[in-house]
Amino acid sequence: LKCNFCGSTDHRHLPFHYLWQGRRFSGRKCAGCDLICLDPMPTDQQLIDLYSEDYFDSGLHGLDAAGVDYETLADARRAAARDFLQRVVRPRHPQAESLFEIGAAMGHFLHTAQAEGFRGSGVEFSAAAVARAREKFGLELLCGDIETLDLSQQQGKWDVVYAGDLLEHLRNPSGVLQRAYDLLAPGGICVMVLPGTYNLLATRLATRLFTLLGRNKQLPDKPYHLYEYTTATARRMFERSFDEVEIICEASKPGGLNLKNRSADYLAKYLLQIINYPLTRVTGRFGDRMTVIARKI
Ligand SMILES: [Zn+2]
Repeated sequence: LKCNFCGSTDHRHLPFHYLWQGRRFSGRKCAGCDLICLDPMPTDQQLIDLYSEDYFDSGLHGLDAAGVDYETLADARRAAARDFLQRVVRPRHPQAESLFEIGAAMGHFLHTAQAEGFRGSGVEFSAAAVARAREKFGLELLCGDIETLDLSQQQGKWDVVYAGDLLEHLRNPSGVLQRAYDLLAPGGICVMVLPGTYNLLATRLATRLFTLLGRNKQLPDKPYHLYEYTTATARRMFERSFDEVEIICEASKPGGLNLKNRSADYLAKYLLQIINYPLTRVTGRFGDRMTVIARKI
């Protein structure tokens, strides 16, 4: 397995893994650039299985425990999406008129963007979600895989390219960032929100401790996240395709963490977040949510 970013095959294994469909997917860290990915990667068929209809129903990781389906959650997040567009996107590109979303799901964010004055379109992998976006919002999304879809008609046309919780799911994230760059008009910005679990104090400590103890933690999810990013690895990857990169790193409030069960590990994570949350507010490091704003000059 060659690193998607630097091409190195040199790596070490991390003390976590997923178990799914009778196969083990281990975490590994590239020795050349620190990028974290799964080893092995799921096959094409396994990815299709992962994103079959139940992804947005009961299968979406993290939501099962709360008993809330994706659509209910997305409906409730409309105000947050509007706030994000007004507070993060608009000030960085006051003249922007158009927004293209990669991984548009059922179209909630795009529909909010339209209400905020953007001409919007996007692409979504799940045919079920594309059908729901049409039914619910009258949106006509492109249906396909952003890594391979023909986007020649869209190149250089968009002021904003947006993706939320996408980059960690891709097989070829550095290739998709170059595609996002190509979609932008000069002066356009690519805005992506992604998890930064490996920035957390809890994850850094747990990784060291588990390695020391020879423990290997089985994560309760399916292997949806093919990559995990830190502020450093995300910055390197965006800087290769874009001209200017800004990263806002924020920590979830302790009560807002995605704690999957009541084990001691998650209790420790919760307690560490009580320190981590104010620390990240002051330092801008250690946050588990990253917003990247990358510009094409
Ligand atoms: Zn690498």
